[in-house]
Amino acid sequence: MNTALLINTTGLVVRERRINESDRLLNILTPDRGLITAFADGALRLKNKNSAATGLLCYSKFTLYHGKDTYKVNEASAVNVFFRLREDIVKLTLAQYFCELSKNLAPEEENADEYLRLTLNALHLLAEEKRSPLLIKAAVELRMLILAGYMPELGACRECGGHQDDFLFDFDGGILCRNCFAGQKNAVPLSKGVLAALRHIVSSGFERMFSFSLPQNTLEELCRVVERFLLVQTECAFKTLEFFKTL
Ligand SMILES: [Zn+2]
Repeated sequence: MNTALLINTTGLVVRERRINESDRLLNILTPDRGLITAFADGALRLKNKNSAATGLLCYSKFTLYHGKDTYKVNEASAVNVFFRLREDIVKLTLAQYFCELSKNLAPEEENADEYLRLTLNALHLLAEEKRSPLLIKAAVELRMLILAGYMPELGACRECGGHQDDFLFDFDGGILCRNCFAGQKNAVPLSKGVLAALRHIVSSGFERMFSFSLPQNTLEELCRVVERFLLVQTECAFKTLEFFKTL
């Protein structure tokens, strides 16, 4: 008896590996089932019907066979392949990094709708050059950390609860006033502009999270703070991030 179920879903291909001459193994970020791993047999053959919709960064409609513990792509048709991301190595690398982030942080086999919306929105803004790449990077990193449960406390000093206006960012997940800082190594001074941007990214609604602007030096400071916070909290190494830094 064939116990495989046929399911329909949309999803973003966040990782694609070649497993032999003609087959692909995909990690797909779906809204309802989170991250799933699926085989796309024959997808590397040029004339294969699923070839165009199963590459990295393809957002596609899938019909999948769900077997005992594997998924297999029956049909895939592309909804958006983010063609313009391929125009530029910086955009493409950041897009791949956002995929690697969601591959590491999104849950498997449970709802990941917000991870998917965040990643798709970021790819769209990046492709269409609606925001600066560094701004998109910092906002995606911080919002994805929040989705994964790493919410920094930015309201007041995490030690004394004070509301001074001179804070340091504590990479354990919050802000510290000068009095409470006491020379800890795991904290850096925070300019007012960066603190305001962090608070905006953390507290704004989905539609507004990318709607801010900063002078270039403040934006670079924001990026350093958020990236280090991400690396400290996740304890992950991201290959695509390392490559991005060489560009
Ligand atoms: Zn304090």
